[in-house]
Amino acid sequence: MGKRIVLALGGNALGENLKEQMQAVKNTVSAIADLVAAGHEVVIVHGNGPQVGMINLAMEEAYKTTAKMGHIPMTVCVAMSQGYIGYDLQNALREELLDRGIGKPVSTIITQTLVDGNDPAFKDPNKPIGSFYTEAEAEKMTADGVAMMEDAGRGWRRVVASPKPIGIVECDTVLALLKAGHIPIAAGGGGIPVRQDSGNHLKGMPAVVDKDFASAKLAEILDADMLVILTAVEKVAIRFGKPDEKWLDELTVADAEKYMAEGHFAKGSMLPKVQAAVRFVSSKPGRKSLITMLSKAKEGIEGKTGTVVR
Ligand code: ADP
Ligand code: MG
Repeated sequence: MGKRIVLALGGNALGENLKEQMQAVKNTVSAIADLVAAGHEVVIVHGNGPQVGMINLAMEEAYKTTAKMGHIPMTVCVAMSQGYIGYDLQNALREELLDRGIGKPVSTIITQTLVDGNDPAFKDPNKPIGSFYTEAEAEKMTADGVAMMEDAGRGWRRVVASPKPIGIVECDTVLALLKAGHIPIAAGGGGIPVRQDSGNHLKGMPAVVDKDFASAKLAEILDADMLVILTAVEKVAIRFGKPDEKWLDELTVADAEKYMAEGHFAKGSMLPKVQAAVRFVSSKPGRKSLITMLSKAKEGIEGKTGTVVR
């Protein structure tokens, strides 16, 4: 029986630059096509860290040298990243499917993610983005009201908030496409963060939503059977990187909570994945999450590998 699956693609599915991306995407779509061929309904969510960083950098450089150009907000950078990653992914997947005799339409939805304007994350922006600045430049920017932070000894960077998603604005579009047998690519980079403003206006926010959390929210709204988070490791480990590390086949919500409290999952990499997996599983009985690597996705969904959270 085919399942409804939300697939969250990590950084290694796309590479660090356009050249790497075009190569990586070939492997990525082959793994996705295996799932489609097996009869699953698939929604694709992708990360955008390096891509949005590159766009933001280009925009900042152009801003410095081009008098006519105004400041380009983060929301627009995320929208651009969804556009060009989606363009590449949808074409590659379309071709791969057609080569296998599968004529399913694939398209990218420019997706906005609803966040709460009162999310505590806005009081403590801590996600570094874009180019590095000297301390003097950072001081000037701080005086201009831009939040800045020293990033691991490498220089000063702009920081934005990482609020939790509370809704996906275009979810009805994604659902309609799924029901019509299409393959949607949605909520790329966690979606463009917006908050409900007065009237019907959605206001773009200077923030970045974690793509693992956005995937969990989308999976919840679409009533998916499974959230599949694809990353660079086949399984989740406890005591990761230590001599007595242990790879997990299964993780209950209770164990996950315990291991999170004990600090087994690195902040900013594995922790948001386990948190997202737990959120989806806890949202309704019977829902499962899987964390594994791209090349093991099909086997993982068949229950043969990966870490299943239930
Ligand atoms: P993505 O781009 O897929 O979001 P990340 O690099 O953010 O990938 O997160 C995945 C990485 O998290 C893995 O490649 C691994 O190096 C690291 N990691 C940290 N803690 C753990 C853990 N406990 N178990 C497995 N991997 C872990
Ligand atoms: Mg990550």
